[in-house]
Amino acid sequence: MAVKRVLKYGEKTLREPSKEVHKVSKKITDLIQDLLDTMYAQNGVGLAAPQIGVNLRVFVIDVSTNNEPLNPIVFINPKIIKKSGAIESEEGCLSFPEAYSKVKRYKYVMVKALDDKGRPFVLEAHDGSLLARAIQHENDHLNGVLFIDHCSNRFETDEILAKYNLPPIDPEKLVSEPELDEELEQTKKND
Ligand code: ZN
Repeated sequence: MAVKRVLKYGEKTLREPSKEVHKVSKKITDLIQDLLDTMYAQNGVGLAAPQIGVNLRVFVIDVSTNNEPLNPIVFINPKIIKKSGAIESEEGCLSFPEAYSKVKRYKYVMVKALDDKGRPFVLEAHDGSLLARAIQHENDHLNGVLFIDHCSNRFETDEILAKYNLPPIDPEKLVSEPELDEELEQTKKND
């Protein structure tokens, strides 16, 4: 297939909710290949369909490192069915070239999805691993949510966005996560 242009923060499609896939047709397998080609071309860890301009509920992740064989995981119509714990870490996104910011995430997730053949599977990711965070990040893209909406400190994040000539945070879009805040607060007290 082909390497596609990755939409940049500020483009409307990134804020639009994506639609469920009804059938894993040729159109969908082509989309999956485009996502993989584009993700690998950009050295990304994950890429969601809206980032290449397609508002369908599909994303791909590969957390393998340079000296490991490629290990792509395809998620169609994903649903996060369990989540717990809290972690703060630096995140980036191919739609925000070079800009990294600290965000709040769950440590553990269980996700249910269809694979590239339309077969259901369940996957767990633990300990705030790159996989656990990538699943939450990519899943958000399908709902028009971006990583900066989870930022730990909006003023710091705004400074980073300005530095890379990206639009500022939209306060309306900030995600309220009192359970994450509470857990992070506890962790800090115990340190
Ligand atoms: Zn992203």
